[in-house]
Amino acid sequence: MEVDPPWKCDQCGHPILSVEDGWVEWLNGTVSEQWEGGLHELRLVHHRLASPFANHRNACYHDGAKWVAAKRYTVADLPLSSFVGPDGLVTLLSWLAEKRFSDPNQVLEMIKRLHIPNYEAARLSFEAAISDGAFEPRSAPTYYDQRELKAVLEWIREQEDP
Ligand SMILES: [Zn+2]
Repeated sequence: MEVDPPWKCDQCGHPILSVEDGWVEWLNGTVSEQWEGGLHELRLVHHRLASPFANHRNACYHDGAKWVAAKRYTVADLPLSSFVGPDGLVTLLSWLAEKRFSDPNQVLEMIKRLHIPNYEAARLSFEAAISDGAFEPRSAPTYYDQRELKAVLEWIREQEDP
């Protein structure tokens, strides 16, 4: 499956322009936590070298010291390249199958962002586009088909260039 950049960085909000510029990170819970639900805060952010905040201490990454102090959580991470293509998809699906994340919606959202064409470009405009009549949702919220996602993208273009 081809990839669909840019993605919006979950830390700084600026675009991540390529797979090489992206970084996926999450938090490992404490050893006393169960295997199921023991992972938290899945995010897609800039690789330090591509970050607009590359010279800040944490760039766009989780503040590891803060999480250790607050909850004894530790940061885990992998390059975005580990989560694209069929091998990336199956990794994300295995996290769902084993119920690894305390909030499985974070894994579902990452799957949609990385593997459903047009999803990333449309996802932050769903509510506004739907309330403006861009399309009539017939499925669970955010689980839209390609025709519906393209209707949102068309709606976004109309807002930018009326
Ligand atoms: Zn960033």
